[in-house]
Amino acid sequence: MSAADNPSSISSVCVYCGSSNAANPDFLAAAAQFGAILAEEGLRLVYGGGGVGLMGATAKSAHNHGGKVLGIMPDFLRSREILYDEVETVVVTSMHERKMIMFEQSDAFVVLPGGIGTLEEVVELLSWRRLDLHRKPIIFFDQEGYWQPFFHMIAHTMEERLTPRSFADAYRSVTRVEEILPAIRAMAVETADINMMPRPGSLADKT
Ligand code: AMP
Repeated sequence: MSAADNPSSISSVCVYCGSSNAANPDFLAAAAQFGAILAEEGLRLVYGGGGVGLMGATAKSAHNHGGKVLGIMPDFLRSREILYDEVETVVVTSMHERKMIMFEQSDAFVVLPGGIGTLEEVVELLSWRRLDLHRKPIIFFDQEGYWQPFFHMIAHTMEERLTPRSFADAYRSVTRVEEILPAIRAMAVETADINMMPRPGSLADKT
């Protein structure tokens, strides 16, 4: 049974978010709140493995609330992103490997405020959706309108007929932390198949 048939089959949620400790304290607090919600709902957090910024806030909160956490950390970033080793962690050799494992281990994706790294990750995920390589739910947490410039950019590509209007169905956006999980579940019901992703080799062949 896929998550589309049974939204409760969502068991692992990947969070993409910023690694900066200098972020807006409200962003850090909301990240921690979301970590707690995941733990309380019995959902595993999959994330980049760091102990800094929104990443660390989410993971530490999920762990401290009794939740399962899987971190995926490239070896060369261990000290820079201060590997959070209180939880299950996989150390990999490259960013590509990190992203592929995060993708494979997750049933849905949440995008909290983040910087260039977060943008890179979510744009890749959206581009895979654009290529029909997957239909996993993608939810932006648009805290304080953080993602509005990004949404405007996507709208601009649609206005210029470089992205089809139908791509608007690829993701959802919410403005309150409590709305994130309901949005994931609603999107899982709407999508026909949770994972049409081919193995990494065939992904490389397609792109
Ligand atoms: P940032 O939003 O710039 O703070 O980065 C958030 C996270 O994205 C950090 O853990 C970065 O290591 C990660 N990141 C940055 N670039 C990439 C990439 N190309 N592939 C995978 N993760 C990345």
